[in-house]
Amino acid sequence: MKKIMVIGAGTMGNGIAHVFAQNGFEVSLVDISEESLAKGLATIERNLNRLVEKGAIDAQTASAAISNIHSSTDLKNAAGQADLVVEAATEDRELKKGIFKQLDEYCGPDTILATNTSSISITEIAAVTGRPEKVIGMHFMNPVPIMKLVEVIRGYSTSDSVTKRILELSRELGKIPTEVNDYPGFIANRILMPMINEAIESLFHGVAGVHEIDTVMKLGMGHPMGPLQLADFIGLDVCLSILEVLYEGFRQPKYAPCPLLVQMVTAGKLGVKSGEGFYDYSSSKKAEVVSAQFRQG
Ligand code: NAD
Repeated sequence: MKKIMVIGAGTMGNGIAHVFAQNGFEVSLVDISEESLAKGLATIERNLNRLVEKGAIDAQTASAAISNIHSSTDLKNAAGQADLVVEAATEDRELKKGIFKQLDEYCGPDTILATNTSSISITEIAAVTGRPEKVIGMHFMNPVPIMKLVEVIRGYSTSDSVTKRILELSRELGKIPTEVNDYPGFIANRILMPMINEAIESLFHGVAGVHEIDTVMKLGMGHPMGPLQLADFIGLDVCLSILEVLYEGFRQPKYAPCPLLVQMVTAGKLGVKSGEGFYDYSSSKKAEVVSAQFRQG
């Protein structure tokens, strides 16, 4: 495998493109939005420079990585050349199924189609293609250049050889893959999202403020980041989409998204990427926003 196509240049897509490019793969980064592509490429360059400053990689590796990435809005052309596609577009079932239908048509017959979905059924995505044995979940963690885990998810029809290849490839990228089966949220988000949702419920019910909830989980449980800060970092829209998939998939009230999360997403407060979520990111100093409103209420 030499040529990798990454679909989506957002939070995850630019990180995935970065990691492949840094490991010598040729990467086509494809998005429907020119603005997302420009922002994604700028993020990759900034993150590579940061690694150089820290002494983690040398300047030559960073510039080679940048020249390994080509950005485009032309899915058809990039798909025709790819050995592997990693789809990291918005977490939306119908959107992903539409993309996989196109990929099945435009990619060569041997191309493996992977999705970075956080929660959507691999089996369902694979079913829209004529190659379900070559469709697999390759779930990177955020931030991709730093986090070691890749959750490798086998759909109902994913073949042993494709699974083995993706496990090997993850190791080639310096990651540690873990194989899991295809049920809503897989392992990572089936456990993480109910915790984040419960933190939002605690805020919603006025049990404590943003800072207090995050402090309890950081100092009390040894989490490197509190659940509300982590939700901001993941993207509140992404958290909501994952909870909806869990709720729909298991039909259990414990997965119902907190009304406050729904309201914040509706208001466009998506966390770090929109400049405001549970914290305000408009200046370099983090400030609480939601807890202040709830205390007054
Ligand atoms: P994001 O909102 O930051 O980026 C999504 C990108 O997809 C945008 O740039 C958008 O323009 C692009 N896009 C939308 N429709 C497209 C299409 N038809 N073709 C090409 N590009 C398209 O989202 P994200 O946080 O990077 O999430 C991407 C995927 O990764 C989702 O499936 C999400 O569940 C998963 N994921 C997210 C995280 C996280 O922490 N954010 C972690 C693991 C997995």
